Amino acid sequence: MDAAPNCAICNAPPYPECPCESERLMVAVKQAEHRAMDARLDEIRDWVISHARQHILNAFERLGASRKQAHATYLNSLPNYAVYMQYSGHPPIHPIYITQLQQQISEAHAELKRGIDADWRASVLRYPEVLDYFYSLVSLRLPDEHSPRVAEPPFAAAGYVDRGYDHSRLGKEKKKKRRESSVAPNGMREVLAQRLRGPPPVPTPPVQAGGFSRPPGPYYH
Ligand SMILES: [Zn+2]
Repeated sequence: MDAAPNCAICNAPPYPECPCESERLMVAVKQAEHRAMDARLDEIRDWVISHARQHILNAFERLGASRKQAHATYLNSLPNYAVYMQYSGHPPIHPIYITQLQQQISEAHAELKRGIDADWRASVLRYPEVLDYFYSLVSLRLPDEHSPRVAEPPFAAAGYVDRGYDHSRLGKEKKKKRRESSVAPNGMREVLAQRLRGPPPVPTPPVQAGGFSRPPGPYYH
């Protein structure tokens, strides 16, 4: 006797398998994932962005500081620069020296500006690498399989008795199944699990959001 239940969604007989259950499961998974993950992913994203931005700004400022230092050193090395500054741009020297010096100062300022622009461009182009780095510091982990909270989830609190998953019994069932494989090719549990995974040819949308795949567990540090 085949005691496999009918489709829980459309009540079709168990064979051939219909795709309702696996489709509904994927919808439910997506909804649960939104509930469990969205706020955390937002929090992670904010953390990564703020650290990446801070790092980029700090690195840019360091580049700028050494560039400005080199600029100042260069200006001070120019002939007549000290006296030019001392007289606020009107030193008692021949105008031809003043014109020449002003041109050198102007070129040096333009060079500094080009350098700062190049530093900024190079800094901003490092965002992908820096974002990868800070994302790599975020860990998402699955709980220990032997944890009581995994083996015996407290759903009894929801109003019915649920003994959770008895792993020792599962192991025995597997062994038994292997022994009796010629008699009963598929245990009911396996058939139903397969139904919830969905038959291979049925396309289900990939569980993705924002263009990147998410880790399966809601746990993170
Ligand atoms: Zn169905």
